[in-house]
Amino acid sequence: MTETNHYITLDHCIILTVNENNDCIADGRIVIHESTIESLGTPDEVEARGKVYDLKGRIVMPGLISTHTHSPSVLFRGLADDKYLHEWLTEYMWPAEKHLTHELTYAGSRLAYLEYLGNGMTTNVDMWYFSDAVSQAAEESGLRSFLSSAVFAFPSPQSEHSLQDTADYLARCYSRPEAVRKASRVYPCVGPHDIYSTNPPLLKECAQLAKQYQAMIHMHISETQRDNAEAFSLYNMSPTRVAEEAGIFECRTLFAHCICLSEEDMDIFHKYNASVSYNPVTNLKLSEGILPIPKLREKGINVTVGVDGAQSNNSLNLLADIKTGVLIQKVAEMNPCILNAVDAIRMITINGARAVGMEHKIGSLEVGKRADLITIDIDTPAMTPILHKTTENISSHIIYTDTSINDVMVDGEFLMKDKEYCRIDAKEIMREAQKAADYITKKIDKI
Ligand SMILES: [Zn+2]
Repeated sequence: MTETNHYITLDHCIILTVNENNDCIADGRIVIHESTIESLGTPDEVEARGKVYDLKGRIVMPGLISTHTHSPSVLFRGLADDKYLHEWLTEYMWPAEKHLTHELTYAGSRLAYLEYLGNGMTTNVDMWYFSDAVSQAAEESGLRSFLSSAVFAFPSPQSEHSLQDTADYLARCYSRPEAVRKASRVYPCVGPHDIYSTNPPLLKECAQLAKQYQAMIHMHISETQRDNAEAFSLYNMSPTRVAEEAGIFECRTLFAHCICLSEEDMDIFHKYNASVSYNPVTNLKLSEGILPIPKLREKGINVTVGVDGAQSNNSLNLLADIKTGVLIQKVAEMNPCILNAVDAIRMITINGARAVGMEHKIGSLEVGKRADLITIDIDTPAMTPILHKTTENISSHIIYTDTSINDVMVDGEFLMKDKEYCRIDAKEIMREAQKAADYITKKIDKI
């Protein structure tokens, strides 16, 4: 292989770097060497190398990072809309999930990862069961995935002992040869589902397991007032305090929803550098409430965004969700200045990278970082006109208008090029997912 084959140049694009200064380069060039950004700047500053792609008419920005999802639940899209959370979960979702198998989970995961890819989400933080099936789908897609198997105090759809499932999954991942593990884009995590479906001894075991592997803990917390009421009734303390007592916060932690955190809870989050995943569409659809983002930011807490699962969202589109999420924050505070488009872009990129501990590798376009990026077409009615090629104007278009994603790259590898999937067969994936959904639908009594 000649040296040329190791290099790619993305030329004449608008580069939204999301670096510390939020720099935007109006006519930019990015040179990628294998998986890494080797140089970035204007064509005057940077010499083109290898195969050159003329991206005039495109924005290039970091790949999107969704920090909370349940991929295979896409098989239940539209199964039970317009319900309260606990009714929805206990009467519809958990009974439906009992019919899942490794094969059905794989079929659903492939569909979810197809949707993530088309919508530019290069990294996802995922929680489900049958982690080997989800892992396989994630690896095949080429996207990054922080994957945990949900841990409950009762049997999961996979087995009687969900903590053991997680321990076994982690052991399998870490027993792979180092070269295989390093090349993998799947990172195993520990996922106690929440406080109300676990208990303090189980949470302690989860924390110990996470410490053993230095794995991240990903869990739901204080999603509704009912979650808080149950924790106070059982333990006389908030869910956050229960998690703290169990040692959960001593690991890297990413918590989904967090709508009903108290000031004291937020102080605990800040003390341990825990991150929050904002899931605006699920929160609105299940009428759970609105995450107090201004307060969290005031406390110095890292706020990220997740699409959550398609059983509650129902689409897996982070850019659509962040628009909803920003707008609802404005009206909640009756203040249009409370969250701007530039900060919103950071929430779906670098903040997500910080949450998973990869801010030195992904989340912004900078020399030395991995080439995880997307390109957005500006030659569309919704993106016309571009008044100024500035950070504010470009961010505004991305957050508030309809975007059309053209290319998706992870580790310097095109996974989608000119809207064509490079690794996977979309039609076959959709066909198999429909078959899996048909099978489950027949099994479910209550629809
Ligand atoms: Zn969730």
